[in-house]
Amino acid sequence: MNASPTTAERARPVVGVLALQGDVREHLAALTRCGAEPVLVRRAAELAAVDGLVLPGGESTAISKLLVAFDLLEPLRARLRDGMPAFGSCAGMILLATEVLDTRPDARHLSGIDMTVRRNAFGRQVDSFETDLDFAGIDGGPMRAVFIRAPWVERAGAGVEVLARVPDGPSAGRIVAVRQGRVLATSFHPEVTGDLRVHAMFVDIVRAARAEVG
Ligand code: GLN
Repeated sequence: MNASPTTAERARPVVGVLALQGDVREHLAALTRCGAEPVLVRRAAELAAVDGLVLPGGESTAISKLLVAFDLLEPLRARLRDGMPAFGSCAGMILLATEVLDTRPDARHLSGIDMTVRRNAFGRQVDSFETDLDFAGIDGGPMRAVFIRAPWVERAGAGVEVLARVPDGPSAGRIVAVRQGRVLATSFHPEVTGDLRVHAMFVDIVRAARAEVG
């Protein structure tokens, strides 16, 4: 590397991880390994300082309540409207939807992606499972995907790219990864497998967005 430390530091995008509940640490580790500078986000001032945000897996209705309690719901909606890159895994995908089926009536969502998501969609029989899937735009062979009481995307809007589907079994064809503009979501948990390819894709989105802003 011939970049000076200062240049290298500046090149590291600051990526927040929403740290109200869920598997925050796993995302922090994956982001660091992808060359980002990860920071915890619990308040609006912290949200205002990041180049992009990860919404972790966990429990979407709990995170929804905490977003309201921490006065983060409207600031987060506003940053998404303004084009902030975001990546949601599992509960994070649910939070990014425009519409959620099978959730609590008081649960809030962020409308970061024009999609309808069904919560706990795979049902009790297979509430956790793993499979290998093809992920559009990501090279290097199939990706191991870990699903834990996962949602699926029941409707993807016209502007939404479908990046991965369940390859086989009773849920074959169900949509489990999507992207709309700078916002990415997966039903599964790339943060738990050590496969960094989805985080690397997201960090690239954040870098590109930052370059556009200047
Ligand atoms: N079922 C959880 C929810 O509704 C999501 C599970 C997960 O993030 N692993 O939020």
